[in-house]
Amino acid sequence: MDVSTHIEAVHAEVRRRNPGEAEFHQAVTEVLSSLGPALERHPEYVSGGIVERLCEPERQVAFRVPWVDDQGAVRVNRGFRIEFSSALGPYKGGLRFHPSVNLGIVKFLGFEQIFKNALTGMGIGGGKGGADFDPRGRSDGEIMRFCQSFMTELYRHIGERTDVPAGDIGVGGREIGFLFGQYKRLTNRFEAGVLTGKPVAWGGSHARTEATGYGTVFFAQEMLATRGKSFDGRRVVVSGSGNVAVYAIEKVQALGGRVVACSDSSGYVVDEDGIDLELLKEIKEVRRARLSVYAEVKPTAHFSARGTLYDVPCDIALPCATQNELGRDDAVALTKNGVLAVAEGANMPSTPEAIEVLRGAGVLFGPGKAANAGGVATSALEMQQNAARDQWTFEQTESRLAAVMRDIHTECRATADTYGGAPDDYVLGANIAGFLRVADAMAAQGIV
Ligand code: GLU
Repeated sequence: MDVSTHIEAVHAEVRRRNPGEAEFHQAVTEVLSSLGPALERHPEYVSGGIVERLCEPERQVAFRVPWVDDQGAVRVNRGFRIEFSSALGPYKGGLRFHPSVNLGIVKFLGFEQIFKNALTGMGIGGGKGGADFDPRGRSDGEIMRFCQSFMTELYRHIGERTDVPAGDIGVGGREIGFLFGQYKRLTNRFEAGVLTGKPVAWGGSHARTEATGYGTVFFAQEMLATRGKSFDGRRVVVSGSGNVAVYAIEKVQALGGRVVACSDSSGYVVDEDGIDLELLKEIKEVRRARLSVYAEVKPTAHFSARGTLYDVPCDIALPCATQNELGRDDAVALTKNGVLAVAEGANMPSTPEAIEVLRGAGVLFGPGKAANAGGVATSALEMQQNAARDQWTFEQTESRLAAVMRDIHTECRATADTYGGAPDDYVLGANIAGFLRVADAMAAQGIV
């Protein structure tokens, strides 16, 4: 069978077997459309059924999460853990608590995670999980009871050598603490390496909180350097205002860039003075309030509940909010305003149509599985420190993170070049480089 017929057959089977899972289909399409040149060179991956096997998760777990709210009412959510690929190491990937979570969302995230984790060069497989639980407006007690109930099912599926969850949207240090406490209680083991993203005081890694945002900026910095440019003096917009966005803003500012806009699901704020990071952190992390509060406090800022922050002229855009937030019209607005680079801090934030517009206009485009790999890479560093019962300094850890991001950037370019793309075709480079690492391991491990 020729390669394109093979890819189309796998694709058709994925759509047939996973009806209605639009985001999963999108993630698979994006990867499969890059794999042609790799499969031409490696016909053994076609005969070995590598792509078919990669598109089918090794294990899918869905479970009931019952809990009691502060009024005494019984609530029921649905929890998931998709253990997608263990070719390179224990399943690894975050947990997302958000009302939009469903099987298709968790599968898209788990699929992306396989290639992202492979790109880090570290021994981690791919997985993802979460629940359709909405943490917004919930008390600490409710969050704790939910996390305890979630872990009461999840604990039997995870372990430091089996599957290592971490955070994602809606899951930060507080939730990881409650989840870890319940795991410890159920198993009677202080198994530090079973979860990453732990607070630094009891097994967490320095720089893990900052890692995804910092890593995205490091990746963008590498892309800009290939055209003799940098963040210094540049206008930047960062979508989102959660963990990834906050630390992307911090690093952009440290490199001399000016972040003029950021957003949350209620709208976006423009501050020509540059976003005041301490104020933003206070509003989002301490008060857990909406972004409009920023403009109420800061006279130079204005908040808009309508439109998009991609209309704000900028040199660099870092989408750090959520999937499919940057559409075709946003991409057109960005290119009209002369954007130089877009690096994805979130998972799959740009739609396929947006990517086409950006790349067609010659904009440097860093896809999430390369540009946001710094978070999970630092999780792997946390696992290393846990295994060694050690803790590195912030500087040591950050310099390891920076080196990982540089290596991913170099590998993407080299791979794109080897497989017939332009060196700055980071989509092709990331997909093929990640795929080859997983495919080699799968081929060596037999049909499992
Ligand atoms: N949720 C993050 C991601 O999308 C981090 C996963 C992890 O650290 O395991 O990569």
